[in-house]
Amino acid sequence: MATSIRVCVIPGDDAAPEAMQASVRVLGSLDLPIEWDHVLPGRELSELDAAERDALVHAQIDAADTVLFGATNGTTPGARYMRWGKLTFANVRPIQWRPGFRSPLKDAEEIDYVIVRENLEDMYVGIMGEAKDLLNAGLADARSRLPAGAEDGRFAAKIITRPGTEQVARFACELALERSAKLTVSAKTNMLPATDRWFCEIVQEITQEYPGLQYEEFIVDDMAHRLVIRPHDVDVLLLPNLYGDVLSDLGAGTIGGLGLAPSGCYGNEFAYFESAHGTAPDIAGMGIINPTATLLSATMMLRYLNLNTAADRLNNAIGDVYLSGSVLTPDQGGDAGTEEFADAVIGAL
Ligand code: ATP
Repeated sequence: MATSIRVCVIPGDDAAPEAMQASVRVLGSLDLPIEWDHVLPGRELSELDAAERDALVHAQIDAADTVLFGATNGTTPGARYMRWGKLTFANVRPIQWRPGFRSPLKDAEEIDYVIVRENLEDMYVGIMGEAKDLLNAGLADARSRLPAGAEDGRFAAKIITRPGTEQVARFACELALERSAKLTVSAKTNMLPATDRWFCEIVQEITQEYPGLQYEEFIVDDMAHRLVIRPHDVDVLLLPNLYGDVLSDLGAGTIGGLGLAPSGCYGNEFAYFESAHGTAPDIAGMGIINPTATLLSATMMLRYLNLNTAADRLNNAIGDVYLSGSVLTPDQGGDAGTEEFADAVIGAL
């Protein structure tokens, strides 16, 4: 097969490189038309100075068609660059139970929905500081609700914009039309009318461009409860950044844990793929991190690259390993290591 696609692999920090190494081995057994460009793991990158490290990793990202990314604890650069530098505005996090996933719910069967998290705005714009600076800027009205000593406090601001919301709303509407034509939206609309109510209003406006699309809305605390009590009612769930981050971990918990939850971040001209979990520092070096989330993120990447047959094969092989249930990592109740799990997937392939 001719090589035409370049994928940059960023192993990341703590236990993430262990999941990545096993995943890359599985991907290697698929005979893909991909040229792999491997970034150094975080522990080796940390020997470079910060500017050198950034330049090296950013250049590898720029040279690639897409990136498979392990999680970072801040040592491995690239996440910020791929997000804000390349404007990957939609973070897609599928929550899908499969037979063999160790869900704590009695009735996890057929949980299958997708969280679309706005990826650039909200609390993640990084506007933080001393409360006194904000108060001195003339927020007299708010003072009646502030506790004594608020001047010594700190603040973090959220910003929601119309173009940012419209963009991710269109993305979510299109995804919903490819699925069951139902879009659920959630935010803290009652307490935060300026940002959250407005977010939902803009999304609702955008749904008018998509005839046949059903729109429903819940306050985010109720949404958290619904994702546990009635997860089958959700199909595509659009959330502002912070709630999307939190509720996707909750969703992962309902299907069996963070080791099972993949993710992809999409912009207009670039996308990258990473597990929804962090670097799992508590199990680093133990060889037991579950690589399923990374492997499922890789199936999303293969679909993005139009390698659908390979994506289906990998997806089915992972499903087979869980169905047989004999080679599972400790988070799923097994005693297999990361590499043994990868061997089982390769066997199923
Ligand atoms: P971040 O803030 O970077 O998202 P986090 O604080 O959510 O990270 P994680 O690194 O996601 O933390 O880990 C949370 C817990 O889940 C840890 O106990 C970790 O060991 C466990 N965990 C996360 N991913 C996996 C995995 N793939 N396999 C097994 N356990 C995992």
